[in-house]
Amino acid sequence: MRLSRYFLPTLKENPADAQIVSHRLMLRAGMIKQSSAGIYSWLPMGFKVLRKIENIVHEEQQRAGHIPMLMPTLQSADLWRKSGRYDAYGPEMLRIKDRHDREMLYGPTNEELITDMVANFVGSYKSLPLTLYHVQWKFRDEVRPRFGVMRGREFLMKDGYNFDLNKEDALHAYNRHLVTYLRTYERMGLQAIPMRADSGPIGGDYTHEFLVLADTGESEVFYDSEITDLSFGDRAIDFNDKAACQSVMEEFTSRYARTDETHEEALFNKVPEERRRVARGIEVGQIFYFGTEYSEKLGAMVQNEDGQRVPLHMGSHGIGVSRLLGAIIEASHDDNGIIWPEGVTPFHCGIVNLKQGDDAADAACDALYDSLTALGLDPLYDDRKERAGGKFATMDLIGLPWRITVGPRGLKNGVVEVTSRRTGESEEMTPELAIAKIAAIYEGV
Ligand code: ATP
Ligand code: MG
Repeated sequence: MRLSRYFLPTLKENPADAQIVSHRLMLRAGMIKQSSAGIYSWLPMGFKVLRKIENIVHEEQQRAGHIPMLMPTLQSADLWRKSGRYDAYGPEMLRIKDRHDREMLYGPTNEELITDMVANFVGSYKSLPLTLYHVQWKFRDEVRPRFGVMRGREFLMKDGYNFDLNKEDALHAYNRHLVTYLRTYERMGLQAIPMRADSGPIGGDYTHEFLVLADTGESEVFYDSEITDLSFGDRAIDFNDKAACQSVMEEFTSRYARTDETHEEALFNKVPEERRRVARGIEVGQIFYFGTEYSEKLGAMVQNEDGQRVPLHMGSHGIGVSRLLGAIIEASHDDNGIIWPEGVTPFHCGIVNLKQGDDAADAACDALYDSLTALGLDPLYDDRKERAGGKFATMDLIGLPWRITVGPRGLKNGVVEVTSRRTGESEEMTPELAIAKIAAIYEGV
């Protein structure tokens, strides 16, 4: 993309109403525009990152055999009456009437809709196990929408639902989700720690929240510092292998790590003092196993091997797709702007032309741009007639992890400069080597 042809409405000044750094930077980098409280337009560069995050979520879900689909945003109140949640949900639910006076709602989550669907189509244990998911907009009329996309009213969520014959299989689905989530967040450059959580209105005994540590997080968390040394890495996992999933689950959940809702001081005090940490975190996901409650209320029954009709064991599993943009920026920025991890960066690298209009510089930038693009990479070429300082400031603000700087002086010696956004270190090299370096960085990302 050439910046002169793009739509990137950056702001020089800090927006007065944005309290936390991710919100400020998303506004300043021209990623989002508020349309009303807690509701945002996703401007092209914000939308690009949102899609990248969504794609990682899809890839990791499908790697585990979970099946993508799409349910509507608007739902009928009837199913929510059956589950008993129509009244229980309270004012967070946006209720709407259609022209025939039928009660509708904008879905805050989808347990009812999907359980009803499965009740309609699944009648035998032979169709199990089954995990369906979608990535869809949700609406929750939050009392205090704030912090930009972190606590929106309209937000994008991946929500998945497992349907199993018995508790053992459903707990395997739970563990499988825990494993997929670990890899999902790591691919986004994030450390998200699974913490024992409170099951809240969905109910059930098993639930973990995934928290990204950040001072601006809304949850208070208590954990054993050993947990931050763990990483999932690129281990290959057979998702059908119950024992393998269980052992990863145990590895990542056996140390003390809890939110304030489940915190127990006495237990925490058993962690050696030098490892006890009290901090704040951003909830970027949550997994649940809740048994047969919804299946019973909504009639999701199957015939088991003995011919008996039994209710399905279910769980639901959510990732805050749009909140993740804020969480990633909270975890990765400096005074000059965002620092995107390679896995989610909107463009793979920036090309800065120090002297737009200089024949040699223009030609070298065009050639770099074409070669990178031909390799399947996605560069952002700042081809504006701007001063170098302004171009650098824009690149730092929008946070592309790599910048190639091209100027007449370097070109006389046959070199361009490659700079890491994270370390600020620069290296001179030929344009060919610069291309090879960027290509190598993104191999396998
Ligand atoms: P919170 O405690 O932050 O209100 P929740 O526990 O009610 O969230 P879940 O029902 O677990 O949310 O939804 C799954 C994920 O969706 C959350 O882990 C979070 O990342 C995201 N999410 C929830 N509410 C919002 C919101 N208002 N804005 C953006 N993302 C949200
Ligand atoms: Mg939650």
